[in-house]
Amino acid sequence: MSTAVRFTGLLLIALLLLGGCEKDQPVYNSRFLAFGTLTDISIVGIPRKRAESAVDTLEDDFAIMHKAWHAWAPGPLTRTNNLLAEGVRFAVPPSVLTLMKKSRELARQSDQLFNPAVGRLIRLWGFQSDTIKDQRPPDDAAIAKLLEANPSMEDIQIDGIHAQCSNPAVQLDFGAIGKGYGIDLAIEHLKEMGIKNAIVNSGGDLRAIGSRSGHPWRIAIRSPSGSGTLGFLYVSGDESVFTSGDYERNYLWQGTLYHHIIDPRTGYPARGTRSVTVIHENATVADAAATALFVAGPKNWHRIAKQMGIKYVLLIDEHNVVHMNPAMQKRVQLMNKNQALAISKPLIETSSATPE
Ligand code: AMP
Ligand code: MG
Repeated sequence: MSTAVRFTGLLLIALLLLGGCEKDQPVYNSRFLAFGTLTDISIVGIPRKRAESAVDTLEDDFAIMHKAWHAWAPGPLTRTNNLLAEGVRFAVPPSVLTLMKKSRELARQSDQLFNPAVGRLIRLWGFQSDTIKDQRPPDDAAIAKLLEANPSMEDIQIDGIHAQCSNPAVQLDFGAIGKGYGIDLAIEHLKEMGIKNAIVNSGGDLRAIGSRSGHPWRIAIRSPSGSGTLGFLYVSGDESVFTSGDYERNYLWQGTLYHHIIDPRTGYPARGTRSVTVIHENATVADAAATALFVAGPKNWHRIAKQMGIKYVLLIDEHNVVHMNPAMQKRVQLMNKNQALAISKPLIETSSATPE
């Protein structure tokens, strides 16, 4: 055996002894503004030029999606909302139709706690604009009037690509689901471009595929104050992590914090929860579920999570107690070892082969 062959053989064995660890591959990071927040893209293991062009493509995609699903700037969704209010039968713009259908399904699963038909309420509270300035809560009477009209996705009859709405109070606002759907489409597009390892992170909400040179992606969970880190978790394969928090869009009025997640049953910002983080394969579902579980609160999150097929939940209540299901607890490393915890029953019925 020649020296060269023997040397190659030894090198191979050495590599195998490393336990199958992949060599660290180049990571390409880029950042742009999308859906009003900073979006970070990391792509692993492909040449820089290809990664750059993939990110440019995604930036264009996000700009188009933001325009299509903006609830107040003129575009396909505002046209849709006008036609829904008129009660006529119309062909729904394709960019809106899928979200409409997905939203109706997720609203049902959440017992209507996720209810994107409450756009008028959101506007009444002043949370539609990109900047919240000099805002004060609306009159109780105006809230009561909208509540009585009871806008719901069930008021929209969808027939193929056509829709007709029987309740003029319905106004769609995809603020709680659009970013998730956008991230799903972005990940699908990356996969089509042959990219297998990447993370698309929009303001802390993300979906990750593959791995970082064989290592799982490390994700920080924001503390409910909005700054600082509550803990970490690791994702690999194909998973999304979404958080809904009262820190995101809010204002203080006479000492009370009014935030952007509205309880459709009361018409007021949901009480009892500070933030909810969920993990799910699909970003659209994770986004809607984080909002729904925020509204459900410490008493009802477990039931709604089960109905929505969510397997991992972390909810921080108004007393800063961290509620988790056991499977989530196993995945989370909290910064504060003395953190007050409330561990629920498992979310999925388990067999002994798959303990939770
Ligand atoms: P998120 O940050 O994903 O929880 O989404 C919050 C945004 O969704 C708000 O800014 C509103 O535009 C909208 N929204 C608020 N409350 C609800 C609700 N109960 N169901 C659906 N969308 C909501
Ligand atoms: Mg959401």
